[in-house]
Amino acid sequence: MKQHSKKSLFLLAGIVLTVAVILIAEPPIGSMMQKRKLPPTQKDATMKPIAEYLKDAYTTGMPKVVKSEEEWKIILSPETYTVTREAGTERAFCGAFYDHKKEGIYLCVCCDLPLFASTSKFDSGTGWPSFFQPLKKEHIAEKVDLSYGMRRVEVNCARCDSHLGHVFDDGPRPTGLRYCMNSESLKFIPGEIPAKF
Ligand SMILES: [Zn+2]
Repeated sequence: MKQHSKKSLFLLAGIVLTVAVILIAEPPIGSMMQKRKLPPTQKDATMKPIAEYLKDAYTTGMPKVVKSEEEWKIILSPETYTVTREAGTERAFCGAFYDHKKEGIYLCVCCDLPLFASTSKFDSGTGWPSFFQPLKKEHIAEKVDLSYGMRRVEVNCARCDSHLGHVFDDGPRPTGLRYCMNSESLKFIPGEIPAKF
């Protein structure tokens, strides 16, 4: 074999080896990212009927859902982790639910606690999903937030302390409140909402 043919052969072998290494290394990383990036609306297969979620009641004094930062990072997408566990805010008009009008309930994405019903959702024009009241007041924890030089009231899940958003007093009737939420903090369960629960 001529010298330059040998060189070409070595070069070709090198390229094939490099591609093979990339292909072998890629699937686990790719599938891990895919698993962590599942948006809330793609969890339909594991959903229970609405009534089952509505039985889930939480009051102060009941055990909280507590996980380490590492545990939350495994079960949440990076975007959801930033919003819910680090009190981040998603960009306006970018979330899955700001313009979402289907009938159903919205759960805490971290612990499945029922938080809001579609019947209290309204178009606030802000680009974030907005509600005039929570399903159950006990499921919401509020605290004063003085970050960014503003005085706001932060809203968290009462059971797992997930950051949900803020509540303002410029909402519509009957409450006059505007619960300004992050889509990343919510999981939607479609279905008819029972009159009593
Ligand atoms: Zn929660």
